[in-house]
Amino acid sequence: MPGTIDLPAITRNLAELRAAIEEAAQQSGRVHEVTLVAVSKNHPAEAVAAALAAGQIHFGENRVQEATAKFGPSGSALLAGLPRPRLHLIGPLQTNKARDAVRIADAIESLDRPRLVDALAEAIQREGRSPDLLVQVNTGSEPQKAGVAPQDADRFIEQVAARFGASLRGLMCVPPADQPPGPHFAVLAALAARHGLAVLSMGMSGDFREAVRHGATWVRLGSAVFGARA
Ligand SMILES: *Cc1c(COP(=O)(O)O)cnc(C)c1O
Repeated sequence: MPGTIDLPAITRNLAELRAAIEEAAQQSGRVHEVTLVAVSKNHPAEAVAAALAAGQIHFGENRVQEATAKFGPSGSALLAGLPRPRLHLIGPLQTNKARDAVRIADAIESLDRPRLVDALAEAIQREGRSPDLLVQVNTGSEPQKAGVAPQDADRFIEQVAARFGASLRGLMCVPPADQPPGPHFAVLAALAARHGLAVLSMGMSGDFREAVRHGATWVRLGSAVFGARA
């Protein structure tokens, strides 16, 4: 039931997902480490604490404000005494949230436009810290979806690389819900290879096995870890 914390279920889900990821990684025919990012958006800090207690380190949130409430310095005392979580921001990011994002995030996965690049560069300089950065590619060219258009991706990735150097770690995508995801994962993998980028953030609860078989190194799993969102 949404909103209810079921510690045994979260622990069991994480163990099963880690095993499924491992199996898919072996099927991919190449040796690669896969990081499970547990997407805790719309779930309370108690759910994060439960996952942390089960050994989960990486978490994903869509909104800076919600992330700050759970993971920020003034965030929940519930996380005190547990290992330090690593926060990934995976949702569309407004430029006026860039500074808060840089302050709190270990990774920002949704770079998709020059104005956001400018805002993040300034925030990184002011805050004196740089999260890992990923360029989001709108592989399906969906008008409602964030991400740089595929035909603009090469140039944009070059600009981001020139600006941020090694902080640019890789690429992220969310394939269209009504299409087989495989071709989208393949496009993202080819793009990352062309630019020498190691991180491929692709695959969600419904399609992570296929994403890992296509070389995903980060998978973003929400409902498969925490159950349905409220
Ligand atoms: C919500 C969300 C996820 C997790 O989705 P599930 O289907 O619950 O695993 C992954 N990536 C992004 C960008 C999201 O917004």
